[in-house]
Amino acid sequence: MSHYAMFLGCTIPARFPFMEKSIRMVLSELDIHTIDLEGTTCCPTKSIANVIGNKTWYVTGARNLALAEAAGLNILTPCNGCFSSFKAVITDLNMDLNLRDSVNRELGRVGLEYTGKVKVKHIVQVLHDDVTAAEIKKRVVKPLTGMKVAVHYGCHMVRPSSAIHFDDPNRPSKFDVLVEAIGAQSVDYSTKMMCCGNDLNSVGESDAAIAMSREKLLETQQIADGMTTACPACFNQYDSKQYLMQKSGEHIDMPIIYLTELLGLSFGFSPEEMGMKMHRVDTTQFLEKWEQRTAYLEEVRNNFDLDMLDRCYQCGACMDDCPVVKVNPDFNPNRVIGDILAGKMEEVLNGPDVWRCVSCYTCFELCPQRFGMNKVFENLKQLAYQMNIMPEGVDGGIKMLLETGRLGEPTAMRKKLKLPDLPKSGSKDLRILLKLDEESESQ
Ligand code: SF4
Ligand code: SF4
Ligand code: SF4
Repeated sequence: MSHYAMFLGCTIPARFPFMEKSIRMVLSELDIHTIDLEGTTCCPTKSIANVIGNKTWYVTGARNLALAEAAGLNILTPCNGCFSSFKAVITDLNMDLNLRDSVNRELGRVGLEYTGKVKVKHIVQVLHDDVTAAEIKKRVVKPLTGMKVAVHYGCHMVRPSSAIHFDDPNRPSKFDVLVEAIGAQSVDYSTKMMCCGNDLNSVGESDAAIAMSREKLLETQQIADGMTTACPACFNQYDSKQYLMQKSGEHIDMPIIYLTELLGLSFGFSPEEMGMKMHRVDTTQFLEKWEQRTAYLEEVRNNFDLDMLDRCYQCGACMDDCPVVKVNPDFNPNRVIGDILAGKMEEVLNGPDVWRCVSCYTCFELCPQRFGMNKVFENLKQLAYQMNIMPEGVDGGIKMLLETGRLGEPTAMRKKLKLPDLPKSGSKDLRILLKLDEESESQ
């Protein structure tokens, strides 16, 4: 079990207690023990504390860090702002020893010292680097398979890279990995690394702040079922401010879900116990869609190996070698698999692609996982047959096989060539056998 000093910051306890609830539930489920330090203050937020003076900013930050050092713990924070503030203070105090000495002289007045030993980790960092996606996967009892989620990192989780060194500051991936570990699909989108605009609120530029949020919300609502963030300030921007946009008649409806709420759902925690009803923007549509997809995927699971289907969809390696794809660019086996996972089974069964696979086994022979998309198409063809959706040729062939036991009757040409009469077809026995199969199935 890992131990951390929990640093929630000011916003979570003051405004979003439901966030704290899911954070504590998920960390405890993952055997991360957190201790609430006595006597901490605001991290501090640079835009406020630094206005009072540089020293105030350093002393306030160093005091919180020194409290964790005194307790012999590293800090875990679920807030981008706190994370970034601490990282900046640490970087400066570790690089400028004169500054550190002068800060420590102040801290000495309250019996504290900052030595530089304490590490500060963002909750995403702890979950990704320490717990690992593989371990998280093991706790998932209700995956979010088929749900499309837009990840919002928030600038201060990864920037400035000179202080943070946690993930790529321009194309980060660790948060996405966590989202995919619980079965959801993390969608790519062009405004992904755009700032939420929250800081503009405190300088009286709330219209500009809302405009920045709106841009991302408008894009993500086209491509995702929900957006996730791991920062209370970003959450406020996208949830509370979106609510104001909705109230003023804007057609924006994007559920915002804090990272640990998303994980909690997949661990089997109910939205009620995590307090998700306290969000300003209703999350019901996300939850209902998820329930429907879960039920749908249970159905699909009866006919397909879902995990394999998912891996095959991510892979797509053999697609360019499919001979049908080479001559018919409209045929896209990978899209068919994606559509099955996305809940579009009826569309797939009614579409032409089901019958385009010629069972050549090229994909099977090339597949490093010994899967092969041909299996998917075989199952789809059987399902389509059960629903009586078939091209004429297949329908005629099946009827003929069941009636005559053959796919063609011997013609007069055989006589001309003096070929011997063919033995009688075993169609009668075959029909009996097929009927017996049906009888035993219905018993
Ligand atoms: S996206 Fe906004 S609130 Fe979030 S970390 Fe960046 S500036 Fe702060
Ligand atoms: S088996 Fe079907 S999907 Fe696979 S390569 Fe052949 S035609 Fe394409
Ligand atoms: S059949 Fe195999 S190689 Fe082809 S996409 Fe699926 S997993 Fe990848």
